[in-house]
Amino acid sequence: MATCGDESVSIWLRTDDEILAAFRKVEAGRSLKPETWPNRARVAVALSVDVDNQSAEVVEGKGPAFVSLGHYGARRGLERLIDVFDRHCVPATFFMPAMSLMSEPGMAQAIARAGHHEIGLHGWVHELPTDLTKSQHRKLLTKSADCLERLTGTRPVGYRAPAAVVAEHTYPLLKELGLLYSSSLLSDDVPFEVNLDGAPDGMIEIPMCFGLEDSQLATPFSGFANAFPPSEVLKIFKDEFDIAYEEGTCAVMVLHPHVSGQRSRIGVIDAFLAHMASKPDVWFATHQQLAECARQQL
Ligand SMILES: [Zn+2]
Repeated sequence: MATCGDESVSIWLRTDDEILAAFRKVEAGRSLKPETWPNRARVAVALSVDVDNQSAEVVEGKGPAFVSLGHYGARRGLERLIDVFDRHCVPATFFMPAMSLMSEPGMAQAIARAGHHEIGLHGWVHELPTDLTKSQHRKLLTKSADCLERLTGTRPVGYRAPAAVVAEHTYPLLKELGLLYSSSLLSDDVPFEVNLDGAPDGMIEIPMCFGLEDSQLATPFSGFANAFPPSEVLKIFKDEFDIAYEEGTCAVMVLHPHVSGQRSRIGVIDAFLAHMASKPDVWFATHQQLAECARQQL
């Protein structure tokens, strides 16, 4: 690993080379977008659901009322999202902290029902990789993969970093674990190879889209007070997709059951899926399918 200088020294006081080394620690490398998408589609759409449930709040030491909002995701929100996906016959990838699934193992059957969804890793209890040593991170990733495999019957091939927090040791560990892809960064509209310290690492990244993330529908734990009205969010989602369609790139969406699964928010997802499905030549894929397509460019 290249040195980024003494980390106790403020970044602006370091040398230019040290600052550039900090930019290059984990970065987007070459594009892995194929010449054409499968079935000669104009755009690739990959829906994902981060099934945090209580994990994200418990790991932050929040009290029972905050934790209960996460529980709403498990009790109500998830089923609503699955129903909307079923109605439009589209696949999705569900990234799960292992403890969320252990607490509600019935979620595995609910997700498996459609026969085309994927389940991916999202930490043990939504812990941040930067809070872990490399060996703690390795242990938790391995334990999480074993747990998801035991409860779903399939070993996960993809990972999303909890809260999109990536540590220096995250990508080397994902490779060590034999994972196919990660979906934790925000640097592009198409899959790319991850560079570590400026050198290609061989790991496929399916970048998330900031404009297609659902926290705009409900600011976390401030209720709907500071959120955009659903009709405005639907417009943002449509604008993101329409340009992706025009440019021939990807629309990678990130949803949460306790946010998009609320009664006043689920209609946005339904209307957005209907909007995308109304266009010809749209390829709806799981993250795994998109990563397999990207792998051919490596
Ligand atoms: Zn999460």
